[in-house]
Amino acid sequence: MESFSFTAEEEVVQKPKIEKTHPYDYDVFVIGGGSGGISAARWAQELGASVALADYVKPSPVGTTWGLGGTCVNVGCIPKKLMHYAGILSEQRTDQKLAGIPIAAEHGDHQWATMVGSV
Ligand SMILES: Cc1cc2nc3c(=O)[nH]c(=O)nc-3n(C[C@H](O)[C@H](O)[C@H](O)COP(=O)(O)OP(=O)(O)OC[C@H]3O[C@@H](n4cnc5c(N)ncnc54)[C@H](O)[C@@H]3O)c2cc1C
Repeated sequence: MESFSFTAEEEVVQKPKIEKTHPYDYDVFVIGGGSGGISAARWAQELGASVALADYVKPSPVGTTWGLGGTCVNVGCIPKKLMHYAGILSEQRTDQKLAGIPIAAEHGDHQWATMVGSV
């Protein structure tokens, strides 16, 4: 593929035209719709290629599966960060108590199922 160099302004209005020189339906076929696959597909499309993407998620032993987004969005970075944030909230309750700010009794114990459902 030929390489192109545009300024940001030109990029919006001027997309390179890729001349189709093959017998296939798509210029690019991406396997895997995680962070890498989606990014590759978007950039290829930005450069004028016709793109298809296929994602298949093998169910976990308990049958868990998900849609597009791959590991990071569904079972990696994002849920990890949300759970980490939940942990920080819990630590803040301890600090709050040490800072002399009363904690309402109705806060009760941590509810794991609620957190997992929210994440
Ligand atoms: C618990 C955890 C926490 C993480 N936290 C962070 C973080 O904080 N920051 C960070 O930068 N990274 C983090 N990562 C790493 C990050 O998730 C990965 O680097 C990133 O998801 C890799 O992207 P990828 O597109 O290469 O693969 P994936 O996101 O795994 O995507 C691959 C996709 O391809 C699909 N696939 C596989 N085989 C086929 C096939 N034969 N046909 C069709 N589809 C297929 C898969 O089902 C999946 O949807 C974390 C990972 C984990 C597990």
